[in-house]
Amino acid sequence: MFTKILVANRGEIAIRVMRAAKELGVKTVAVYSDADKDAPHVQYADEAFPIGPAAAQLSYLHIPNIINAAVQTGAQAIHPGYGFLSENHHFAAVCKTWGLVFIGPPSTAIEQMGIKAQARQMMQNAGVPVVPGTEGTVSDLDEARQIAESIGYPILVKASFGGGGRGIRIVEGSDELAEAIERASREAKSAFGQGDVYLEKYLRKPRHIEIQVIADQFGNVVALGERESSLQRRRQKILEEAPSVAVTPELRRDMSDAAVRAAKAVGYTSAGTLEFLLDEAGRFYFMEMNTRIQVEHACTEMVTGFDIVKEQIRVAAGLPLSIAQEDVQMNGWSMECRINAEDPSKQFRPSPGTITVWREPGGPGVRVDSGAAPGYVVQSFYDSLLAKLVTWGRTREEAMERMRRALDEFRIEGVKTTLELHQQLLLNPEFIKGEIHTNFLAERIEGA
Ligand code: ADP
Ligand code: ADP
Ligand code: MG
Repeated sequence: MFTKILVANRGEIAIRVMRAAKELGVKTVAVYSDADKDAPHVQYADEAFPIGPAAAQLSYLHIPNIINAAVQTGAQAIHPGYGFLSENHHFAAVCKTWGLVFIGPPSTAIEQMGIKAQARQMMQNAGVPVVPGTEGTVSDLDEARQIAESIGYPILVKASFGGGGRGIRIVEGSDELAEAIERASREAKSAFGQGDVYLEKYLRKPRHIEIQVIADQFGNVVALGERESSLQRRRQKILEEAPSVAVTPELRRDMSDAAVRAAKAVGYTSAGTLEFLLDEAGRFYFMEMNTRIQVEHACTEMVTGFDIVKEQIRVAAGLPLSIAQEDVQMNGWSMECRINAEDPSKQFRPSPGTITVWREPGGPGVRVDSGAAPGYVVQSFYDSLLAKLVTWGRTREEAMERMRRALDEFRIEGVKTTLELHQQLLLNPEFIKGEIHTNFLAERIEGA
């Protein structure tokens, strides 16, 4: 096992990773930008190292500064968290050249899955169903028109290097196609530095169902069941749960088999998530793989009793997985509400400011993974996620009852948050019945 690791992230996920390290007896190094000197993740760590100015490009995304921090502090490995450098294959490779272990998949797996248009192709070859669409990226407009025609409208134009719900456009008819491709490509170029786009059939009311996998360096891959992440605002997840009301044991087995095949096809190690769309007829299609720990991993931990982050650190250190597929059992139900600093009255725009009151809920079945505290200043430089409120119950009903209570207990003042949105959602009769899809929030919740 390592004696010291560096966490190249901030906020709740940095603390989550340090908690896992602490349980394993591993010392932690936090890194921080000028804006984060007093942030909770800095206080939690055994030691902390400055990596530059507030702008992420100059600090949390600045590879030389992060490598330098690891070398200076004598850390043996780097955990990237999610966002920032977590899906940067170049960073994973650079770590290796400096003799640092990247706590994540091999650089090659990140690269192959990161080119989404190519990943589709590879998954098809591995026998995993994909949404009908182009083979690879769009290179010729006439060809794109033909393919779109044969798939049938509406279709989506998606950025091959996209992420975080961005770089996706709906096209309702052939007259809109050329412009959509041109715009999506331009946007993708400025957001992701790469303008390649591909086409996919647009499913009207799908569920977003994803399978968590974890793999070691000995070829063992275990699937930890599904999460439902259909509740999204502008293609960004808001509330997740595990398991899903839409997944039968047979479907879980089929999706898990597909996920394990997918992971094996890219020589995957560490934790990863296969994202699928589930249509109204119960068919599932591969959408993308997130080659990192996900925001919503806690839901899976609550129902499987398995610590995914600890396992990531263990397998990165060369240890075999501590569980086998037969050991995986789904026990009860878990839900997660993302508590973001966003203003519902202003189209959920980020709401920076100083947190004057911060009181977290507790009690039976409640877990709070938080990166905030009283007096904490919410910066406009970074993601607006403040905390994840996670509940567990023996049944979905009980997980929801606890979530309503916990949302009620949560006190945040000084910035606007998504607390009320969640309260509204938890009272919605269709949500309570589990009748949801990826456009549910936009259709049913005012202002979302
Ligand atoms: P998850 O499935 O873990 O919820 P998300 O797509 O919501 O994944 O991304 C997790 C975090 O990483 C979010 O905070 C999001 O803003 C950030 N993120 C993901 N992809 C990108 C990207 N390509 N560029 C910038 N941020 C990203
Ligand atoms: P990202 O990398 O930004 O997370 P994804 O490919 O995972 O991109 O898509 C993000 C979200 O967009 C999905 O969770 C889903 O809600 C929606 N989406 C993506 N592809 C389709 C599709 N073919 N049909 C309908 N919705 C889709
Ligand atoms: Mg996705």
